[in-house]
Amino acid sequence: MQFHKKDNINVVHINAGPAIYLVSTPIGNLDDLTYRAHNVLKSVDGILAENPRHSSRLLSHYGIVTPMRQYNDPNEKKITEKILDEVIEKDLVIALISDAGTPLISDPGYTLVRQAGLRHVPILPVPGACAIIAALSISGLPTNRFVFEGFLPSNEGARKSRLDDLLKEERTVVFYEAPHRILALLDSIIDVLGSYRSVVVARELTKLYESIYRGTIGNAKKYLASHPEFVRGEFVVALEGAKKSTSDAELEDVLRVLLASVDLKIAIELCCKLTGSKRNLVYKLAIGLREKN
Ligand code: SAM
Repeated sequence: MQFHKKDNINVVHINAGPAIYLVSTPIGNLDDLTYRAHNVLKSVDGILAENPRHSSRLLSHYGIVTPMRQYNDPNEKKITEKILDEVIEKDLVIALISDAGTPLISDPGYTLVRQAGLRHVPILPVPGACAIIAALSISGLPTNRFVFEGFLPSNEGARKSRLDDLLKEERTVVFYEAPHRILALLDSIIDVLGSYRSVVVARELTKLYESIYRGTIGNAKKYLASHPEFVRGEFVVALEGAKKSTSDAELEDVLRVLLASVDLKIAIELCCKLTGSKRNLVYKLAIGLREKN
């Protein structure tokens, strides 16, 4: 491998080590390992694995006997420098894999990539499965612009505060969630963002019990709560973004029409549902209108 630094642009020509391949592995279905990933994992000097015991199933399925070493969060910082010393001194080509999908996507590897970059060790992607992309691609929600939020905090207050920041987010929002917290996540989304947005809850993608729920967030919560047999496995939640925010003048127009037929409380509720606007803003405008009349 030759490395050139010119005008602050790193140009990499591969013909020998050292180098680190970031290899995506399947998110469930072992057939989803790419041909190139297979070749790279077979040929590198060693594999850093989030959990070698977990990955040994994949490797033995493909008859890959490359030695593996554990690389995960608790010891990531400590061992990174030592690994890079070895890679550079011995001119090694190694691969990083996680338990499933693409390394660094809610998985270990960030420190390795950062430090390798600083030490001019080339990092090369071997793209493949990734749960966000798999879920988003089949969601039917807009994919031209999206936001990945990963796992929200397990603490309810912290989770809702992150959701608060998303109130006006117009792009599709994608979350990861574990089975024991999926209902709590849906509840928090309903509390903060309302129950009417479209959602896709993708469960166990590419696996035997793959299931994809499409509907409103409120109905998704009801469905999962009444089918505990589906509250198992791994989940990606893709949520419709906020509607373009409605101006105060437009909200007042909607409220005028509603107030002509229904009482204040119902008018506020309907206006919030129709426009996706925050209740306290709609309430303030409705009171203002009532006082003017
Ligand atoms: N690096 C992985 C990737 O590229 O998608 C993600 C790793 S993260 C620790 C694990 C989370 O990804 C799970 O809790 C779930 O939210 C999501 N996930 C992984 N595999 C999945 C699958 N087959 N179906 C649905 N969600 C999945």
